[in-house]
Order: sequence, then C-alpha cells, then structure tokens
Amino acid sequence: MNIAIIGAGLAGLTAAFELRKRNPDADVKVDVYEATDRIGGKLHTVAFEAGPTDMGAEAFMARRKDAVDFFTELGLADSLVEPSGLRSLVWVDGQARDLPTGGVMGIPSSSETVKHLVSAETAERIDTEAERAGFDWEVGGDVNVGQLVRERYGDEVVDNIVSSLLGGVYSCTADDLGVRATIPQLAGEFDRLAADGLVHLSTAVANLERSRREMPTGQGAVFKTFRDGYQELYETLAEKSGADIYIDAFISSIELEGSADAPKYRLKGGEDTVYDHVILAVPAPTAALLLKSVAPAASEQLKTVKLANSAVVGMRFATDEGLPENSGVLVATGAEDVHAKAFTFSSRKWPHLAERGGALVRASFGRFGDTVAFATTEDDLVDWALDDLHTITGFDGRAAGLEEIYVQRWLGGLPRFDEGHLATVAQVRTLLNDEPKAANISITGAWAGGVGVPAVIADARAVAVDVAKHTP
Ligand SMILES: Cc1cc2nc3c(=O)[nH]c(=O)nc-3n(C[C@H](O)[C@H](O)[C@H](O)COP(=O)(O)OP(=O)(O)OC[C@H]3O[C@@H](n4cnc5c(N)ncnc54)[C@H](O)[C@@H]3O)c2cc1C
Repeated sequence: MNIAIIGAGLAGLTAAFELRKRNPDADVKVDVYEATDRIGGKLHTVAFEAGPTDMGAEAFMARRKDAVDFFTELGLADSLVEPSGLRSLVWVDGQARDLPTGGVMGIPSSSETVKHLVSAETAERIDTEAERAGFDWEVGGDVNVGQLVRERYGDEVVDNIVSSLLGGVYSCTADDLGVRATIPQLAGEFDRLAADGLVHLSTAVANLERSRREMPTGQGAVFKTFRDGYQELYETLAEKSGADIYIDAFISSIELEGSADAPKYRLKGGEDTVYDHVILAVPAPTAALLLKSVAPAASEQLKTVKLANSAVVGMRFATDEGLPENSGVLVATGAEDVHAKAFTFSSRKWPHLAERGGALVRASFGRFGDTVAFATTEDDLVDWALDDLHTITGFDGRAAGLEEIYVQRWLGGLPRFDEGHLATVAQVRTLLNDEPKAANISITGAWAGGVGVPAVIADARAVAVDVAKHTP
C-alpha cells in the first residue's frame, strides 16, 4: 500500500510518524513531498553561531497534555524547557506599559487590570457593561472579536490590548478574527449564558477567570519550548516516521488513476507511483489548487481561506545591558511611531537562551492585509527592527554590538481564523467526504485544526489514525 503526504511541515511529518506507528510491520510505504529545500514548514530553527534559534514558532501551550505526552513518546521530554516568567509590555501612546494579566486574550472583566491602558471613559464603560442590555448570541455560532468588543467596551480595548495579544498569535487584528475560532472558551461561556437569555461580555470573562482560579495549581509553566529549537521535533518526526521524504518536490496536481468508485492517485511533480491514499498537509490555498480536479466543490470553498503574511528579524547582540527585564513587548495597532508589531526578548524570556550570554531579540512585522512582510527590503526590516527597539526600550542595538542577524519572511504564514472560518472548515470536510473521486484523500494542517503547535499535531494524528484504519 502506498500513501503520499504533501507538505513536510509539522502536520505532514506528524501524520507520517503516526502512520508508521499504526502500521509498524504492515507493508505500507509512506512518501512525503516538500516543495522547499527543507522540512519543518513554519517551524524553522536557524544555526546562529551562538546556538540554534527559532525563526518561526518559538513556544507551545504546555497545558496541552496531549502535546506533552506526544513529545515524551518521541523521547523529547528532557528537551522541554520553561520560560523565565518575566512579564510582557505593550506599547501604547508612545509608552511601554505592563501588559495586563487576567481577562481572556486581553478582554477584561473589569477596568481594574486595564485602566493604565484606556481612558477613564472606557474604564467606566467596561465597569457598567453588565448594567446595559446584553447582546444576542446564537448558540454554536460565531461573531467578529473586534466588532463585539468595540460594541461592548469601545475601541481602546480592541486597539490597545486585544488586537496586540491576538495579533501575536494570528498575525491579524481582532477585526479579522472570530470569537469561537480564536477564543473557543469564551464562545463556550457565551453558549452557556445564552441558554438563560441575553449575554454580557464582562460576566462571561469574569466566569472564565473564576474557573481559572479554581483550577488546581502546580501544573507547571503555561508555555514551553525545545532547548535546541523546534528542529529537535521536526527532525525526530522525520527520522522516526521511516518515510521517504522528497524535498524540492513541488506537487502541482493530483491526478485520478483508475475508476471513480475505487480511486487511486498520481502526483504531478512526485515519483512515478500510484498512491492508495493522499494526505494534504499544505496551506489552504495550495490545498484548493491540488483538489481542483478531484474535488472541485471543496476546492472552491477552500479558496475563501485567506492567509496573513509576516516577517521575523532575529538579532543577536554582544551585550544585554539596557534591555528591559521583560519577556517582550507587543505594539498596539495604530501606533504610528514604530513599524514592528512585537518584540520577543528571547534571552530574557528563556533562561536557556540567556545562558548563551549577550542578548537575543526577535522583531515581528506584518498583520493580515498589510504588505509589510513582502514589500519591505531586508535592509529596511533590519533598520526598522533596530530603530523600533531603541524607540520602545531605549536599548541601542547598534551600540550593543549586532553580532548575528537573520531575516525570515513568512509569506502566507498563518490562516485567518475569522468568524466564518470554522464553518468553512466543516464544509470543506463535508464536501470532500461527499466527493467519490476524493474518497481516499484527507486534509490536515493549521488552517484545518488550529494554528497552535498542539492543535496542528492533534489534527494530523487524528487524520493519520483514520487513514490507518483503512490500511491492511
Ligand atoms: C512567525 C510564526 C510564529 C509562530 N509561533 C508559534 C508559537 O510560538 N507557538 C505555536 O504553537 N505556534 C506558532 N506558530 C504557528 C505554527 O508554527 C504553525 O501553525 C504550524 O507550524 C503549521 O504547520 P503546518 O504543517 O500546518 O503548515 P506549514 O508549516 O505551512 O507546512 C506546510 C508545508 O507544505 C509545503 N508545501 C506547500 N505547498 C506544497 C506543494 N504544492 N507541494 C509540496 N509541499 C508543499 C510547505 O512548503 C510547508 O513546508 C507560528 C507561526 C508563524 C508563522
């Protein structure tokens, strides 16, 4: 039996590993095709002289036990390291201020934690939200985060706080994201409250804060990472999958082989092999292209998923003197004095990186809909990174001795999880299931199962388990 996986990012490699695990002895051959010259996709560890340094994802949600168990199964438990726990800042109105704790993705339950970031008028609006009429919420539905929070609390909460936090995860402002698609626990609370009538935002957030307080303590760090970067993960997956991995192999179409009621496939750009099953682990627009002839309806639906571009500038300095004792800084949307959307002070955030000496800083640029990530030259991105860092923190990177630098563009970096996204994914899956010619094609990836590393892994494993059920 031959199985092809298109895309050697986290989803594709995880699926390859899981298929091997489920079929250790069976006669199942897995081929993985990767368009670029390296595996890992949006996980990319670059060999800085000071040590391996991540230029894509740089952490994962460690409260996801399924992910930690998976890394343990891969033999990587000892590689997991915790952050320092230093606080982050947010750049608002020309000042670096404390990023609020509490709330849900920056949405507060009262003005208490955010009053240093909003006007007295907005603070009052937050505190009286529960006294106003609630809003209509359709159980199981979704609405736009920005629109909802603007309506209930006002623009400052969105522009100064929520968009900065969500933007760090999704490369989008709150106005391009859905509540259920990005903050499912809040949507779940709205569902619960809606059963009793109209819903209040502050009540829902307060309820979530309360359940968080009641959770048992001592669960360890919320986020973790890999001591030597994500390469530890993607190289281990590749090796343990036993798959044949072809790099520089751009697959341009899937061609049906044989009859439509027992479909097999050939891949244009792949080996001269007939595949019994194909798993697509590529971004949504590429999946749309690849499904065009075998599943045209699913392909059309997939085209509606849009991607956000971003760029990361990694900088290593000889000294960290003068760099704030914080994990990083987010930039409020609309800030006109800087170009960056965030800085991670990696050597402050991660003790294992601090051990290398000097300072390691990542600057991030680009949100959905802007052209910063692809229309800016490398020189300008580096200049902006150094200038913005100086403006925000007073740390003069040029004087601190810029020793190493790496510019990584992520064109089509992250799918936009807007308020229609979950319905789109469900519809694509249904259309694919209903298409006899695509009976042996599966889909996975960040756009399908969620962008976070644990979510990508969980979806890819589930898909592989399902495929394995149909193998001999
Ligand atoms: C800058 C940045 C920072 C992030 N930070 C974090 C973080 O800290 N924590 C976290 O949990 N998540 C983070 N993420 C999200 C996470 O990294 C991604 O969601 C995840 O890595 C996506 O994996 P994937 O396999 O779905 O997609 P990808 O990594 O995009 O993999 C898809 C692969 O398919 C290949 N491909 C595309 N078309 C073809 C074709 N036609 N033929 C063959 N191959 C093809 C691509 O080259 C790519 O290698 C971050 C993402 C970015 C961009």
